[in-house]
Amino acid sequence: MKTLDTILRNDKPHWVGDGFPVRSLFSYHGDTSAISPFLLFDYAGPWNFEPATGHPRGVGEHPHKGFETVTIVYDGEVSHRDSAGGGGTIGAGEVQWMTAGSGVLHEEFHSPGYSKTGGPFRMVQLWVNLPAKDKLTPAKYQAITRDMIGEVSFEGGRARIIAGEFKGAEGPASTFTPINLWDVRLDANADISLPLPKGHTTMIAVLAGHVTIGGKGVGEAEIARLSSYGAGIAIKADGDSVLLIMTGEPIDEPVFGYGPFVMNTEAEIREAIAEFNSGKFGALASA
Ligand code: MN
Repeated sequence: MKTLDTILRNDKPHWVGDGFPVRSLFSYHGDTSAISPFLLFDYAGPWNFEPATGHPRGVGEHPHKGFETVTIVYDGEVSHRDSAGGGGTIGAGEVQWMTAGSGVLHEEFHSPGYSKTGGPFRMVQLWVNLPAKDKLTPAKYQAITRDMIGEVSFEGGRARIIAGEFKGAEGPASTFTPINLWDVRLDANADISLPLPKGHTTMIAVLAGHVTIGGKGVGEAEIARLSSYGAGIAIKADGDSVLLIMTGEPIDEPVFGYGPFVMNTEAEIREAIAEFNSGKFGALASA
């Protein structure tokens, strides 16, 4: 069995633009080998936005290079537009898997419809690293809609498989390295044993509710980081709970990050900044 290594939390929220009240539960500013292949986990909300009359709240044009951003919307809607010609709206229960690769510009705003009505907002943005050999892959995104995500039921709960495999169900996301990403709901008093891959970095984010893992309580907006050794974990739900389970094969390469760029060396970061400044990442598709 895996063991619980540590519990990650962050009591100092910050705003990303004016649309995303975020708690960063881990980031590449810490020990990157302990979280690899993941780089950053921002939990936005839960928050209740009042109806807005002007331009939707959010964050305007900005670059990314060298990794992927995975946006999982639970409540509310997020619209995006990028320099690779992509654009669309991520609704509740949907996922956008964006590969920034060799470089992309994009913007992320509340959708016009959600912005007008306001209401509950909750999303996760997870950054996933790319191996050095794939860092310059062309930018693209995968729009993963509700109907594409298979659900598996088990005693005490159910799991929607976004990436990887669970009990024979395969997630729709295509990934560059082996990754599991499961949206798991547990009923109160569920007492389950989950199979999890040996050798993978393994993290369980509690987004709502409270669970007990390895004898320790893990509450809302906390992440249990488990050992990479061992092949499973027992979880007891102390109430109805929403978990995001992430596992991934570590990428054993140096990580050099600076803001929205994550490369392997400082020289590559300088190059990314120069490319951005010279307009090499292109322009947003027109609205
Ligand atoms: Mn972004």
